[in-house]
Amino acid sequence: MSEPAATPRPLPALQGLTGEFYAWCAQGELRFQRCDACGAWRHVPREICAACGGAAWSWTRSSGRGRIFTWTVAARAMHPGFAADAPYAPVVVEMEEGVRLVSLMVDCPPDALAIDMPVEVVFVAASPEVTLPKFRRA
Ligand SMILES: [Zn+2]
Repeated sequence: MSEPAATPRPLPALQGLTGEFYAWCAQGELRFQRCDACGAWRHVPREICAACGGAAWSWTRSSGRGRIFTWTVAARAMHPGFAADAPYAPVVVEMEEGVRLVSLMVDCPPDALAIDMPVEVVFVAASPEVTLPKFRRA
């Protein structure tokens, strides 16, 4: 019998501000929007500052360092593209800049995760077009 074809994993659509965020990742840089008026960092990308309402902002480089804010263990994949990975643990990382993002760890099984564990970003090519920011133990 032949193996069933693997279901591709969903990838972010490289459009608008999201496309700009991933374009920086493809260059090996984690950058978040930072408000030019009040200095507040923000993620996920959006047009207006939630702190002051300012419309001017800059893609500003992150230190790439953060801590595990929380995580969950997916015992059954929520998309067939991830079925071979289960169980896996999506993490919420709180960056030094204060923003949080959902990602995955590399080289860290779910039972090794801990609240406040220091992590640092690594860049993983998911396709020729999309590079994802993931994290490893720092
Ligand atoms: Zn602002």
